[in-house]
Amino acid sequence: MDRVTIDGRSYSDPDVLSLIRSRSGSVDPRREVIRKARALNARLRSFDAIEDPRERLRILGSLAGVTINPMVAGASPDKKREALIYQDQDGRRFSFYDPNLNEGRVNFSIAHEIAHTFFPNSGNGARFRNLHAEDSKEANELERLCDLGASELLMPQEEFLDATRGDMGLHLVAPLASRFGSSFEATVFRLATAFEGTAVAGLLQYRLRKEEARGAARRDQQLLFEADPRRSQKDPVPRYRRQSFHTSSKCGQEYLVLWNKSFDPESCVYYVSGTEVATGIETLPTKARQRGFLEACRALFQREGSDSDHPDMLFLWWQ
Ligand SMILES: [Zn+2]
Repeated sequence: MDRVTIDGRSYSDPDVLSLIRSRSGSVDPRREVIRKARALNARLRSFDAIEDPRERLRILGSLAGVTINPMVAGASPDKKREALIYQDQDGRRFSFYDPNLNEGRVNFSIAHEIAHTFFPNSGNGARFRNLHAEDSKEANELERLCDLGASELLMPQEEFLDATRGDMGLHLVAPLASRFGSSFEATVFRLATAFEGTAVAGLLQYRLRKEEARGAARRDQQLLFEADPRRSQKDPVPRYRRQSFHTSSKCGQEYLVLWNKSFDPESCVYYVSGTEVATGIETLPTKARQRGFLEACRALFQREGSDSDHPDMLFLWWQ
């Protein structure tokens, strides 16, 4: 399979490869997606200021050659897809969104579909993806890049930083989300990615390490046949570990929170009560070992099967 590695990340999705090869020399697709989103935002700024987020997206879409419409009621072909884009025989592109979802999710989905137009090769990519499982690595790398572009389109760096007025923290999320028409979660992540210093944000889940989870599943199987009195002692304890993960551009690899690393049991993320924000000055489980401000709150959207005593958590850390 065709595969390219840039800045430590490897890419094999045909759409992503077409973007990497769209200019002479190979381009970093993450930077290229953000560059294209910023260029589109810059074109929009040449019009009068548009306050309504949905209207902004409609115009951004038309600048990118996409007509945006709500789906006809109940016509969503796939529950997992919140919006979709397709091209007719004359090359015109249309994006349809599910109007039943909340404002923030709809807006992010529309922006995500617009970001798909940044990839020169969309037709082939769609065919390729049909051959792959939904959550294959190839399907995901393109979707993550489109999310990156969506965040920049919906919450442009300049306007977003203007609106924060040099302040930082989870108390900014609600007013920013209402100003930009974004979801609470996407706004938390944007606070990190737009920040001019070092900042990290993400979603935490209370879970075992991957190999521990596999071991536990095996033991449960064995227990069907034999009772093991030592079991309770041997059972590994879940901890908060990261799911999604976002950093400011100033963060190098040393700020990466690895998949299996856990937040220290003393961290404030274990002591969030109700809808409160927990705060601390803490070191993240990264190579950087730097202390910074850490804030955490319960995620509004809880996945099915999340631990009721240890719900999914959003965190924001900065220096
Ligand atoms: Zn997509």
